Amino acid sequence: MSENGMHRAQLARRLRGVDDLSATRWRAVEERDVTMVGVFVYAVSSTGVYCKPGCGSRRPLRRNVEFFATPGDAVSSGYRACRKCRPDQNDVLSPSLASVVSLCRWLEEVVDDRDVAAFAAELGYSERHLRRRFSEVVGVPISGYLRALQAERARKALHARAPVTTAIYEAGYGSNRAFYEHGAPRLGMTPGTYRAGGRGERIAFTSLSTPIGVVVAASTVRGVCAVHIGPDEASLEASLVTEFPHATLERDDEGLAWLIGVLAGAVRGETNAAVLPLDLEGTAFQMRVWEALRAIPAGHTLSYSEVAVKIGAPGAVRAVGSACGANPAALVVPCHRVVRLDGSLGGYRWGIAVKQALLDAEAGGRGT
Ligand SMILES: [Zn+2]
Repeated sequence: MSENGMHRAQLARRLRGVDDLSATRWRAVEERDVTMVGVFVYAVSSTGVYCKPGCGSRRPLRRNVEFFATPGDAVSSGYRACRKCRPDQNDVLSPSLASVVSLCRWLEEVVDDRDVAAFAAELGYSERHLRRRFSEVVGVPISGYLRALQAERARKALHARAPVTTAIYEAGYGSNRAFYEHGAPRLGMTPGTYRAGGRGERIAFTSLSTPIGVVVAASTVRGVCAVHIGPDEASLEASLVTEFPHATLERDDEGLAWLIGVLAGAVRGETNAAVLPLDLEGTAFQMRVWEALRAIPAGHTLSYSEVAVKIGAPGAVRAVGSACGANPAALVVPCHRVVRLDGSLGGYRWGIAVKQALLDAEAGGRGT
């Protein structure tokens, strides 16, 4: 076999391993196979709920299903536990199934299967027996499982940088009436293009001085892609370059005059910048959080845990905090409207004093 042919054969084998694992898991979901309980959970994107195999709830569509090794993984991706099958509660497993499940968890932490013999010995099995039992239960051999995990990690890493194109919203820039009548517009996400730090993109930016500091705002043709607040313009411009290393950054005060107007009003608590069109990059989870923040009316606040509940992931309070901290577009995604449960301010990417000033302005301003 030529070197190229061999490489292709390896690749095909690798891909088959990945497909095999999800095919086996999908079959277990379809057949409500309880013998795989503990081995994995599946999450349904259309409902935001995750289940264990065998759940009696309606069968989801294949394209809406995502598989996770553990309930914890599903939760950190923003899913909540199904009330019917309670995948978050521990099941009593037979010793043989429990050993396979613990082997799964162990494999998720290691890079190869070199120590399976030792692992088996610790459980009181021969390596051969444990490997055979693993293939029976999981549907793929240990090597296939490791390959699938690897591919999944690669896919997730890619997804974390996935771009998000925007929606241009029907709600006009200044039209807060439309905003309140129709609710906050949804952030649009179109998979398939990878922006990679704004490669090939023209990004216009502008800045304004306000009582809370300098505001630098940048926009693509689709919408606002960054709003940063800080003490001086030079460092803010530098941070734009860091954020979009491959884009062509151009100052365009005239072209972005509309944006300046809305942001200046927002700083005074007089306009709601959350109606502006956005063009942000973020993970699916971050987008859900940011979307929820845009639904908080000016002059109101939510706690981090209330936001977690709103996006259907009550267990993900910390992740909500991180998503707020990662918000690239101050004011337009009003992360300043999220505070701690006890009313204290929590963090703010652009400083607590700025957060306080914005909340004060909105409380005192007309609030819309
Ligand atoms: Zn369920």
